[in-house]
Amino acid sequence: MNELLRSKVALVTGSTSGIGLGVAESLAAQGCHLLLNGFGDEEEILTLQKRLSEQYGVEVCYHPADVSKHEQVLSMVQYAEETLGTVDILVNNAGVQHVSPVEDFALEQWDRLLSINLSGVFYGIQAVLPGMKTRGWGRIVNIASIHGLVASPYKSAYVAAKHGVLGLTKTVALECARDGVTCNAICPGYVLTPLVENQIADTARARGITEQQVMEDVLLGTQPTKRFTDIADLGAMAVFLCGPNSGNITGSVQVLDGGYTAA
Ligand code: NAD
Repeated sequence: MNELLRSKVALVTGSTSGIGLGVAESLAAQGCHLLLNGFGDEEEILTLQKRLSEQYGVEVCYHPADVSKHEQVLSMVQYAEETLGTVDILVNNAGVQHVSPVEDFALEQWDRLLSINLSGVFYGIQAVLPGMKTRGWGRIVNIASIHGLVASPYKSAYVAAKHGVLGLTKTVALECARDGVTCNAICPGYVLTPLVENQIADTARARGITEQQVMEDVLLGTQPTKRFTDIADLGAMAVFLCGPNSGNITGSVQVLDGGYTAA
């Protein structure tokens, strides 16, 4: 267990599933108390809270805020402060995808993706920053994507939002550079989570190919290592960015993509 992280409070958005859950679990394993967030079945979330709490001996709360709604994000941060005392670590992870050619891209989907994947990150940072600055310590980790660095066809809103997240990460890092608060981004390549599994059929339709071809040629085709990025590796990177050896790492973009963006 990491002494610096023990008893720190981590708010991880979108932590009822996939990468967010993995990152939350990695932080809990280091002794962080957790505020979970995201959608899902109420019973399953309660069971998850209980499991994490018992397994790691930490407090685990939950708030159902939709991160695209400013008021709800404010309520979530306030709830964290009331129940767990503070927010020391914010991991902005909640995100959604929509796959469609630009000409057919529904405006509601454009707005939805930008508001969840980009504005939600801004709302969270704005809400936690005053407390972090006052305490002189804070860690902000934004889960962006290799689509913050390069594009793929049919993902205009996602790519635009993720590029925006990297710009926001760097700006916040500069603004907090002397305050003990770091802000970094993690850019995963493809990770096999519900978000990716759910886009296989849409991608097949948009490109006119089979789902098998999407897996082999589109997803793993872009990763020289021919393997998905492990959720546990993303959790370990988040722990490192929050830990004792990363105080001078800020505004950085950590790429875990199996060589995707090296090509
Ligand atoms: P996922 O679908 O498994 O999980 C998404 C989580 O976000 C869920 O907990 C969901 O309930 C929550 N969520 C969705 N909309 C929300 C909202 N409006 N408010 C609050 N919570 C909301 O997805 P994932 O693959 O684990 O993705 C997590 C993050 O990682 C996303 O930001 C995604 O863009 C990024 N990412 C994923 C991959 C990948 O290959 N899976 C690659 C690069 C980046």
